[in-house]
Amino acid sequence: MVLNGTLIRKAILAELAEKVQSHLQAGKRPPHLAAVLIGEDPASQTYVAHKVRDCQQVGYQSTLIHKEAAISQAELLGIIAELNQDARIDGFIVQLPLPAHLSEVAVIEAIAPEKDVDGFHPVNIGRMSKGLQALLPATPAGIVELLQRYGIETQGKHCVVVGRSNIVGTPMALLMSRNRNPGNCTVTLCHSHTQNLGHYTRQADILIAAAGQPEFISADMVKEGAVVIDVGIHRKADASHPNGFRLVGDVQYDQVAPKAKAITPVPGGVGPMTRAMLLLNTYHVYHATHG
Ligand code: NAD
Repeated sequence: MVLNGTLIRKAILAELAEKVQSHLQAGKRPPHLAAVLIGEDPASQTYVAHKVRDCQQVGYQSTLIHKEAAISQAELLGIIAELNQDARIDGFIVQLPLPAHLSEVAVIEAIAPEKDVDGFHPVNIGRMSKGLQALLPATPAGIVELLQRYGIETQGKHCVVVGRSNIVGTPMALLMSRNRNPGNCTVTLCHSHTQNLGHYTRQADILIAAAGQPEFISADMVKEGAVVIDVGIHRKADASHPNGFRLVGDVQYDQVAPKAKAITPVPGGVGPMTRAMLLLNTYHVYHATHG
């Protein structure tokens, strides 16, 4: 079975659009997401453009604050302080990565946790790890949502997460081990110092590949009947494609798919879910204050 993130994203956006309409009919303002973009990195520009477009699709208001790469840390922190105070804005993100002279840690910590719709602030990470209500990081939250909407049983399963970044692997491992559904997995967290990775991945009922290594999970590393979630996104040169490349994940899809009970494709798996979760987080903030 293919876990189709594009399809689920569409369903989530339709649900949100309907909710926004009923708020508008009740005379309320729409949810409002702001994005801060620093510099001219083409990938960041594309990501932010998608986020703005997603807002339009569900009827949110969006504000893009685009500043040159040379902005000082003080000026950026000033913009964040204003957004924190602005009651017209429900949530905002600062698109990462930032130019090297800016501190990502300081920027993330300056965002008011209740407006931190990326779910990167230590308060949200801490609340998540305690099982308290929190704004969850979009990619792991999107994977949980995908598992739930496809009715994938997680309780008592062995979930192996490959990669321990702060935005994907580590929160993913936490969410899968929580005492709720989806969750209640026995979790193994593998990383770049794990020895004999295949020994662990072959035991996975649910394998989540988030190492950022193109097509490095081969069929012999996957158990027959496993659920395989591929987080990686990489460009692979391919002359037969109009752009000269195609997107691949961390998993050798064509070899692994026949063994897997369920698998996410790249593109069209985890990526669309990540985008949908940003809108869902923004709605949660809006709903908390506007009912
Ligand atoms: P990262 O580089 O910050 O972290 C990678 C992690 O993988 C590290 O913890 C490292 O220890 C581990 N790792 C690296 N090589 C390994 C190996 N050979 N064996 C075991 N572990 C290894 O990356 P990230 O930000 O977590 O992103 C991971 C991938 O997911 C990237 O390809 C990124 O582009 C993609 N991504 C996709 C989405 C999405 O929405 N689909 C969102 C975020 C990231």
